[in-house]
Amino acid sequence: YVTDVPIDDEVESPPLAGPNVMNVVLVAAECAPWSKTGGLGDVAGALPKALAKRGHRVMVVAPLYGNYAELQETGVRKWYKVTGQDMEVHYFQTYIDGVDFVFIANPIFQNLGSNIYGGNRQDILRRMVLFCKAAIEAPWHVPCGGSCYGDGNLVFIANDWHTALLPVYLKAYYHEHGLMEYARSVLVIHNIAHQGRGPLNDYSYVDLPPHYLDLFRMYDPVGGEHFNIFAAGLKTAYRIVTVSHGYAWELKTIEGGQGLHGVISDNDWKLKGIINGIDKKEWNPKVDTHLTSDGYTKYSLDTLQTGKPQCKAALQKELGLPIRPEVPLIGFIGRLDNQKGVDLIIEAVPWMVGQDVQLVMLGSGNSDLERMLREMENRYSDKVRGWVGFSVKMAHRITAGADILLMPSKFEPCGLNQLYAMCYGTIPVVHAVGGLKDTVQPFDPYNESGLGWTFERAETGQLIHALGNCLLTYREYKPSWEGIQKRGMMQDLSWDNAANQYEEVLVAAKYQW
Ligand code: ADP
Repeated sequence: YVTDVPIDDEVESPPLAGPNVMNVVLVAAECAPWSKTGGLGDVAGALPKALAKRGHRVMVVAPLYGNYAELQETGVRKWYKVTGQDMEVHYFQTYIDGVDFVFIANPIFQNLGSNIYGGNRQDILRRMVLFCKAAIEAPWHVPCGGSCYGDGNLVFIANDWHTALLPVYLKAYYHEHGLMEYARSVLVIHNIAHQGRGPLNDYSYVDLPPHYLDLFRMYDPVGGEHFNIFAAGLKTAYRIVTVSHGYAWELKTIEGGQGLHGVISDNDWKLKGIINGIDKKEWNPKVDTHLTSDGYTKYSLDTLQTGKPQCKAALQKELGLPIRPEVPLIGFIGRLDNQKGVDLIIEAVPWMVGQDVQLVMLGSGNSDLERMLREMENRYSDKVRGWVGFSVKMAHRITAGADILLMPSKFEPCGLNQLYAMCYGTIPVVHAVGGLKDTVQPFDPYNESGLGWTFERAETGQLIHALGNCLLTYREYKPSWEGIQKRGMMQDLSWDNAANQYEEVLVAAKYQW
């Protein structure tokens, strides 16, 4: 019996995106694993792979900040004008998990090392101008797998203020000259706190005709009239995404929009909130490569009851804390910045050390907060560790070894650490704001439902109250605790769902005139 029907594996399945398959170019100032200071880097590293899985042809464009060994020189070199000066960029490239990663090389990026947002305002502006100009032409110039993307069926995804010039350039330099006519732009707000603000005469840096100035002109009661890059991008992009529904709502309030609430409200019709996913190859206790040595172990829901205690003991040992399985181990991971509510944790420490708990904090950033972390460790050396620095390995190990993760952020567009925590059976205690509110449903002891503890106002007393309830459950109600862990671990937090929603936005942008 002969058949010409191929066996299952050989059947080429149609792309999930169906007829909506597009060329997508995501442009971001950071991209994990090469460069990362926070959630933006994680998103730029992972969302494109999920979009590629749906059948899109996907390119990521990021600056080249160091010497990344695995890249190829494409041989493509182009000149772009920045404040009247011609600057040459080289395009580098690699192909991973179905995605073309393209890097823009010029000494103004390469000399930064890990301080990727360093330098004075003018330096930063010049970098962002060069980056956006070079990124927008990458689909024209860089051959990927033998052919360039071109500009048909093309949607750019720009991210945060650093690339908010891209939608403006697309319009001013190309559309207005009959070029890239069908290319569209989507701008993603990961954090509105940084907007590229400056005095109005900064306009001379962005190299645009005079009639574009009004897009950048903003007024606020404190700073008066000023220049604002994010504002111009939001007005010009075809669609806007932000990283949770809660944050989408907050952005339209005076407090949450941080001066841009009016612009965002005016453009509400094109705004959508999409919760970030997580990269399950990176953040998954089953396959986590940071848990393979020093006494740690990989684990899953089935081995949670032995694997997690082993990780906890390994963490206690690594940090020189007493190795005690029964003591609740509380973690914090994040930028040491006013946003993250580190001050609330520091204020709560005297209460915490009055309990039988251990506290481990990993973070870097604000030097006063770094000093406070060190001081706390010195003062309460039997209970507290303050690990100052940026260590992906420690972040993974704390996520696995801790019982509880604190996120008392004043505002939090999405938040990734609470998502990672839940995948590792670590229970989040969070301020109910932005993405934290969307993703951590409060524990309800009557229905045995929920994923963690939340508090309504960013106040130390409220943090202590929520943490107190959490500790009580940890100590007295083991079945409830295990239920919360299990529900957290069983969620599907992968990027697939988010990619599907991004696709809807890309399609809407594509058909918009
Ligand atoms: P944000 O983007 O505001 O910094 P997110 O929660 O969205 O916050 O993402 C933070 C990301 O950065 C997470 O992947 C987190 O693990 C990582 N991170 C933050 N601080 C550190 C640190 N000191 N060491 C290692 N990773 C860190």
